[in-house]
Amino acid sequence: MLTINEHHLKLQASYLFSDIAKRVAAFQVEHPEREVIKLGIGDVTRALPQACVDAFHKAVDEMADDATFRGYGPEQGYEFLREAIAVNDFQARGAHISSDEIFVSDGAKCDTGNIQELFSTDIKVAIPDPVYPVYLDTNVMAGRTGVFADGRYQGVVYLDCTRANHFVPALPAEAVDLIYLCFPNNPTGSTITKEELKTWVDYARENQALILFDAAYEAFIRDESLPRSIYEIEGAKEVAIEFRSFSKNAGFTGTRCAYTIVPKECVAYDSRGSKQAIHPLWNRRHCTKFNGVSYPVQRAAEAVYSDEGKREVKELTDYYMRNADLVRREIGALGYDSVGGENSPYIWIDGGRKSWEFFDLLLDRSGVVCTPGAGFGKCGEGYIRISAFNSYENVERAMQRIQEALASQ
Ligand code: PLP
Repeated sequence: MLTINEHHLKLQASYLFSDIAKRVAAFQVEHPEREVIKLGIGDVTRALPQACVDAFHKAVDEMADDATFRGYGPEQGYEFLREAIAVNDFQARGAHISSDEIFVSDGAKCDTGNIQELFSTDIKVAIPDPVYPVYLDTNVMAGRTGVFADGRYQGVVYLDCTRANHFVPALPAEAVDLIYLCFPNNPTGSTITKEELKTWVDYARENQALILFDAAYEAFIRDESLPRSIYEIEGAKEVAIEFRSFSKNAGFTGTRCAYTIVPKECVAYDSRGSKQAIHPLWNRRHCTKFNGVSYPVQRAAEAVYSDEGKREVKELTDYYMRNADLVRREIGALGYDSVGGENSPYIWIDGGRKSWEFFDLLLDRSGVVCTPGAGFGKCGEGYIRISAFNSYENVERAMQRIQEALASQ
């Protein structure tokens, strides 16, 4: 008899985006004449940078000719891309990461989900609340949690992110082994200072713990004093793995390319307490289960680091940041507290009522779709997330409508 991994049965169905879709569909049936503006989902809306498109085309042409055709590439990624990443994203900022510490993949979602396979199932895991759900669900699947009760999985150490701590969690009171951090944050849009991040690095060093640092939104950082990488913090290389993606900076959500940094110094411990380097373990896992990102996609990603690519990525992210700035200012003018939108494409708004209530209010009165914060965890209740990924014209119209709707309350 084939039995299943019963940990999967503990997973709560993710109704968030399907519930949103259902409510929007019902609204449109009732009000076919009203146009809906979607500021809910975290997907980009603008075309790939021209430098990436040109490199992509050129690489496809190479694949069309026997003389330049390429089959399987290195599982870890082509050296041309790994070197460009190491030089531009790390060495240029004083972080000593070399190309062979970089693993190119088809997404930060897969990488943040897969990395936990390397660690034992009886470790203590600390996960922020609210959170990008992948960190939590993959640990549930692996059997690192108990059942879901009263809005939370038993056995997980939740790191509350609230207004009181400026949406940067405090160090856990109990010892934990694996810590997920994401800055700039999805969903709150909050950022972490170097000093705050150092307290986490120090904690990990003192507790033989490991930080999984998700920097998928680093390209939206505008405040130069904020860390873009955890490796800007001294001592982080021994205790941190970092995840990056081309999805949000260069619009690769549908093209798929990301990378994970596993420094050679980074360690975990075996059951006898002896240090084990994580790099060879991840290399083995990656090569066993993954066959590399396609050559044209890696050439397109490499183009992000050309002069033209850098200029275009800045323009692209500036475009979304202009949207974010507008949302932040307008929502503030209406008297709502918010965080994010200054160094991230998300604005996290305290609605002063239940998340879904505020969602319905915005949809009914203004035809604008947001994401209810309660869908990201218990601490998200009372908040909504507005995403800056849309055209400026749509964001402008959405904010005008919200202004009218809320002013007439
Ligand atoms: N990490 C965070 C925090 C995200 O919000 C997302 C996507 O929304 C991802 C990772 C996924 O990135 P990718 O498209 O590279 O899989």
